[in-house]
Amino acid sequence: MPADAPPNFANYDTRARVIAALDDVAAELKAHVQKSYHFRLPSQQQAKPFEQAFYKWVAGGRVGLQPPADPASFRAAMYNQSTTASALAAFHRVMCVVSIEFAESSADGFRKGQLTVPCAALRSLIERIAHTVALSDAVKGMPTAPISPDTPLKTVLELGQVIAKALYGTQQNWTKLTEVDFRKASHKDVAYIIAAEDGGIKATNVLGSIDKLEKRVPGTRLTYEVLCEFLHPNRGDLYGATIDARSLTDHSGMRQLERTIGLGPKSLAKLPDLQVVTEKMLDVSADVVRHLPIALDEIETVSAYATKLTRGFAHKMVKQYRGLFANRDLCPCLSGLTIKDCMRSKLL
Ligand SMILES: [Zn+2]
Repeated sequence: MPADAPPNFANYDTRARVIAALDDVAAELKAHVQKSYHFRLPSQQQAKPFEQAFYKWVAGGRVGLQPPADPASFRAAMYNQSTTASALAAFHRVMCVVSIEFAESSADGFRKGQLTVPCAALRSLIERIAHTVALSDAVKGMPTAPISPDTPLKTVLELGQVIAKALYGTQQNWTKLTEVDFRKASHKDVAYIIAAEDGGIKATNVLGSIDKLEKRVPGTRLTYEVLCEFLHPNRGDLYGATIDARSLTDHSGMRQLERTIGLGPKSLAKLPDLQVVTEKMLDVSADVVRHLPIALDEIETVSAYATKLTRGFAHKMVKQYRGLFANRDLCPCLSGLTIKDCMRSKLL
C-alpha cells in the first residue's frame, strides 16, 4: 500500500474506480475551458419591445411599414438573435467549470480517506450531470437545417426559453435580494415568482432530472439518495466522522460496537455493512461520472450548429443594414470579434 494511502478504505477497488473516473473526467473537461469564454447578453429591456413588434409584423405577412425603432433598440434586437446560441455555449462552459471543481474536490477528499465532503461533492456533481442530460434531451431534437428561409433562426430561438431556464434557473428574486435587509426580510419576500418578462426561469426540481439520468445509468436515483445522507445532517455524518470501529463481546456474551470518532482517514474495516453500501454507491457513481463528457458532447454538437446558424443570420443582417454598424463595433453574431475582425477571419 502506498505510504500516503489511508488504511482499508484505500483498498477498495470501487473507491479507486470512482477516483479514476473523477480524475479522467476533470482532465477531459479542462480541455474545453483552457480559454475563458466571454458571454455577452444584450439588454433585454432594449431588445424585447422592438423584437416582439418585429416578429408580430413578420407573422402578419409584413403588411404596412416595418415597426419603428431607435437605433439602439434596433441593434439590441439584432444582437439578441445570437443570445440563445451564446447562452447554450455558455451553459456548456459553466457545466465544465463547475463539474471540474466538484470532481477535483471529491477526488481529493476520497484520496484523504474522508467520506462526508467527497460524498457531498459527488452528489452535487451528479446533480450537474443530470441537469446537463436534461438540457441535452431537450435540445438535441433540434432540426439540423433551417425550417424556412424567412425565419432561419426559428429552431434556435424556440429553444431560447429552455436554455435560459437551464442557465438562469433560480428559486430567488435576485433583484430583490440586493434591496432587502437580510436581518428583517423573510425568505418568502424574495422567493422567485414566475414573471412574464423573463418567460419563467423558476429552477426545476432536480429530482426530475435525476430520474431522466436513471434511464441512461441505472442505479442513479438510489445512489443519489444515499449520497444525500452525507450531504444532509443525517446518519452519513456519524459514518463520515468514524475513523475506526470494533465489535466487543464481554464474558457474559453481551455484544457492543465501539466507534472511534475523530479527524483523519476513515477505516470501514470493521463496518462490513457500510463497506457494502459504499461500494455499491461508488460503483454506480463511477459510471454516472463517466457519463458527463457524453452529455456535454451532445450539448456541444447542438451548440456548434446553433452558433453556425445564428452567425450566418447575423452576418446577413450586417450586410443588409451596413449603415448601422461601424467596423469597430462588436459583431452581432456575438463572436466577441469586431465586425472588421469578423470580416478578416472570413466569418462574415
Ligand atoms: Zn460575426
